[in-house]
Amino acid sequence: MTNSGRIELKGVGISSGVAIGHVRLFHVSPLNVGESTVIEKNIDTEVERFRDAVAKTRQQIEELGKRVGERGEDEALTEVLTMHLLLLEDKMIYDRTITLIRNERYGAEYALSCVLKEVAERYAGLPDLFRERFKDVEDICRRIMDNLRGVHTQSLEHLEEESIIVAKDLAPSDTASMRRDKVLGFATEVGGKTSHTAILARALEIPAVVGVRGISNLVSENDLAIIDSEAGFVIIHPTSDDLREYREKQDLYNVRQSRLFEQSVFEPITLDGHVIELMANIEFASEVDTVTKYGAHGVGLYRTEYLFLNRRIAPSEDEQYEDYLKVAEKLAPEPVIIRTFDLGGDKFVHPLDAVTELNPFLGCRAIRFCLENQPLFRTQLRAILRAGKSKNIQILYPLISGCSELKAANDLLESLKDDLAREGVEFNRDISVGAMIEVPSAVIQARDLASDLDFFSIGTNDLIQYTLAVDRGNEKIAHLYQPLHPAVLRMIHSIVEVGRDYGIPVDVCGEMAGDPVCAVVLMSLGIERLSMAPHVIPTIRNIIRSVHIDQLTQFGSELLRMTTVENAKQFVVEQLSRLVPDHEDLSKGFNEFPVSAGK
Ligand code: PEP
Ligand code: MG
Repeated sequence: MTNSGRIELKGVGISSGVAIGHVRLFHVSPLNVGESTVIEKNIDTEVERFRDAVAKTRQQIEELGKRVGERGEDEALTEVLTMHLLLLEDKMIYDRTITLIRNERYGAEYALSCVLKEVAERYAGLPDLFRERFKDVEDICRRIMDNLRGVHTQSLEHLEEESIIVAKDLAPSDTASMRRDKVLGFATEVGGKTSHTAILARALEIPAVVGVRGISNLVSENDLAIIDSEAGFVIIHPTSDDLREYREKQDLYNVRQSRLFEQSVFEPITLDGHVIELMANIEFASEVDTVTKYGAHGVGLYRTEYLFLNRRIAPSEDEQYEDYLKVAEKLAPEPVIIRTFDLGGDKFVHPLDAVTELNPFLGCRAIRFCLENQPLFRTQLRAILRAGKSKNIQILYPLISGCSELKAANDLLESLKDDLAREGVEFNRDISVGAMIEVPSAVIQARDLASDLDFFSIGTNDLIQYTLAVDRGNEKIAHLYQPLHPAVLRMIHSIVEVGRDYGIPVDVCGEMAGDPVCAVVLMSLGIERLSMAPHVIPTIRNIIRSVHIDQLTQFGSELLRMTTVENAKQFVVEQLSRLVPDHEDLSKGFNEFPVSAGK
């Protein structure tokens, strides 16, 4: 442990709670290495060094396989490990690296990185789903590379001690593989409040701060650290006063949570008798118990793309059917809104795609990806239609940008219904279909879309990023990501009006719905259904129970007249204490939000 002094770093708090513990640095070693050669007489030694690294990798994978087997865990993981053992012998990797060392006199690390590039080129010509397998090749090469360099390969899945993770960046898959009992909290240099890593941190209820510049160079392995996820602070080498203060804060947080939790039995009704529906966003079927625990009125957003986590091939129709049916049956008769795969953007993007797509958030993502990969989309739609027999399932298409996309998806859905009917398979022909409204063009064409839809679900995370041209995951411009921007507020309100005119429900399932201040603003604009991370439901329910819709509506119509984000924020700050008196969560929530007051 280092003895240097106290350091306090500011970032963006993305979940709730406080974590105190020792740091584990998580880093992914680079696979690109500079050119290096060896002299003639050292070639045999270099080949031997490579062989030793492969042998060590084999031993590590076998040991890991044994541990996984003993714990009786995760068959899929065992399968992957077996595949990795086979890859170690693959001529394309093993023999080719040795050939490059011998013929070109390359250093082992450089030879291996050249081989990886060659393999990447081969995979680049294959269909997307095959290219997913390249991840295994990359994984295995990383392990060999780490052994050549003499560093330890890390995986958050197999963390043995309770730790605070510090990393430059974490992919959503790194976050999802975290074990809640081992990862006390995490801090990263990169990321924003609505990045998918942040969404997962909230789903897993892990205290976390992102956008902490320079943190990975300021901490050392095993340093003591505090993560204050609510205020967005990280303290390294805390003093004894810090430790006392934050332990108290942890206790207070736990007391507050259990108090809110006890109130889960109450209905989310305003003081003047309006019911606001509160639904849950989930990423995994296993979260279904959390949905009930926090008293959500069903699932407003099931992000099914997380089925691709830790997988090399798409889940089969039957696997998906069982997964969807399990969630639906557990929650029946409450609604379960299943969003079709929103792959791409920052989610499960293949390293090769990241190279070929300069701007993945504007690339082949979500509905575009599904319409281009019809077999994958058909399989999912069939599974949803079949699971729809439980009657509470609804379909939601992500990233609809116009009527042609909606028509293409709906036509496919209709043809699949006919197929299922012909095959005599049970399904729901009358399944409700909704579209995510998260692209400005969809807002402008909402009336054209409405006639072919049963509901709208506003995805504010993307709607804000595409409307304001601010990358939702980029901490450098987090201050420009403005949920209270007049353009955003007016867009939301215009969708509410279209919904009313066409008699279709409008919900918000972006992170704004679970933010105390924004939830009040959304209600003031006429939103009556909010979907959010399950654990924030008690806080939002509590706020709903202390407001009058009549007052909020009046406030909303004045808010819509603001022409700058600064005026809008100031107006919200001024009015909050009147609209929601004595609400500590609310004022705190506002300061926490990335658009913090007064900026
Ligand atoms: C959104 O964009 O608001 C949304 C809910 O979808 P995701 O965060 O998965 O992109
Ligand atoms: Mg979205």
